[in-house]
Amino acid sequence: MSEKPGLSIDFLVVGGGIAGLACAIALRRVGHNVVVLERSSDADILKMSHGGIRLPPNVSKILFHWGLEHALRQVSITATAVEIAIYDTGEFVGTHQWEEEVLRETRGEYLFLHHVGLRRVLHDAAIAAGAEVRSGVSVVSINSNGDSPHVTLATGETLMADVIVGADGRSSIVQKAIVGKDVYGSSPYHCLFYNTTVPGALMRADPDLAPFFSQHVESMYLWMGSGRSALGFRVGGKDEFGLHFWVPPRQEGVCDDDRWGGGVDLDEMRRQLGPCEPRLLKMAKLAATPARVRVKMVSPMEDWVDEHGRLVIIGEAAHPLPAGSLQGGAMAVEDAAVLAKLFSHLRTEDQISTFLHAFQDLREDRCASVVQTEQGNLCFQMLPAGPHQEERDNEMRTKTAQGESVFGGGEAAEQWEHLKELFGYDAEDEADDWWVKWGLLRERAKQRSLDMEAEMKTHLSNIHIR
Ligand SMILES: Cc1cc2nc3c(=O)[nH]c(=O)nc-3n(C[C@H](O)[C@H](O)[C@H](O)COP(=O)(O)OP(=O)(O)OC[C@H]3O[C@@H](n4cnc5c(N)ncnc54)[C@H](O)[C@@H]3O)c2cc1C
Repeated sequence: MSEKPGLSIDFLVVGGGIAGLACAIALRRVGHNVVVLERSSDADILKMSHGGIRLPPNVSKILFHWGLEHALRQVSITATAVEIAIYDTGEFVGTHQWEEEVLRETRGEYLFLHHVGLRRVLHDAAIAAGAEVRSGVSVVSINSNGDSPHVTLATGETLMADVIVGADGRSSIVQKAIVGKDVYGSSPYHCLFYNTTVPGALMRADPDLAPFFSQHVESMYLWMGSGRSALGFRVGGKDEFGLHFWVPPRQEGVCDDDRWGGGVDLDEMRRQLGPCEPRLLKMAKLAATPARVRVKMVSPMEDWVDEHGRLVIIGEAAHPLPAGSLQGGAMAVEDAAVLAKLFSHLRTEDQISTFLHAFQDLREDRCASVVQTEQGNLCFQMLPAGPHQEERDNEMRTKTAQGESVFGGGEAAEQWEHLKELFGYDAEDEADDWWVKWGLLRERAKQRSLDMEAEMKTHLSNIHIR
């Protein structure tokens, strides 16, 4: 464990996904008691995780700092480039290599792995750190009852804690208890996301697909199309190729399902791909049963903390990103890191609410800007055919013809600044800064007022004695 707080309290974390497990590790590292409640059973989790996930440098650096570098390296590969092609023709339009200098400065790496691999690393680390992780238990209601909040499970069992953390994903029950409505459910529906993998052996056996496994650098492949897009990358730990597709919603009146659980018919996915290049079609034929999730563009939520200062939401529950976003897992882990850093300074109960509100203050701008960037990126890669899409593609072709990176050229300096900000961000440093700038100040002011109160009492009692 790193720092220990003066006061250890009990946290109940609803949801044992990336955010919930990262939160358990981070809070245990600073000495708090943590119970995680996850509704899926261990066996279901293995069946429900269907694809690859990308971890950018801003998150890998946190996980390395928590001592998980070795475990992560066993299940991931390090990527160094992105290659871009046109979705319907397969025309190669350019590439971008993550410069070593950029990565060195961010102190992290770009890792690709299987979602279930990441979940297992986090789960094992949470248990090893001393958290209790209960799977197969569903939370059905939340009661933020002053300073003794509690949850009720589907079995009727009631559990109490000092703080309840909602890490229960986009349709969060904790978020509903805080905000009073289902923000995710009522947000507009943008497109559909399919998530699947293709066995590496099948890809290597096909001369058209084998090159995805034999490049000298580990690349991510992005296909940009009209109202459609695809992303492919090798998944570490397993001999698989992760495949994401973003496609238009199915025809009106058809209720598209919305769960990561998978079980979608592969033919249905293939029908949704529309006109697409032969290699993508081949991969889609060889792919495993996919998961299908609705992609929504959700506006920032105003309240992440309840009125009593005992419930808080993190991860997708607080700031849902478009499904398949690069920063989905990263924002969840950053949240966990910041929350725990703040609670490493806990001395008295009245600080609980202050720290939860400080957590929201520290995180909301960063998350809103990342969500907006991810929404913008998705729209950019799915631009409908027309002048903007032509301009986008021609610009990339020109840069490639000039031997430049697709994300480089005239605006390289701007890009560099943006990447430094996005990937170089250190969530734990931000929380430390808050403590030094505001937290300590507040503590000293509180101590001064207590000292004055004590002085006043002594003074009054002296008067009385005389
Ligand atoms: C099964 C699954 C597979 C995924 N696969 C991928 C993938 O392959 N690639 C990718 O990029 N992203 C994937 N994601 C999404 C990704 O995990 C998130 O975008 C991101 O990492 C942040 O996650 P989160 O922990 O905030 O939310 P989530 O990942 O949604 O986790 C929330 C967790 O809370 C649990 N939960 C919800 N309600 C309750 C309740 N009432 N009681 C108890 N538990 C509850 C859920 O079962 C879930 O495990 C997947 C998510 C899930 C749930």
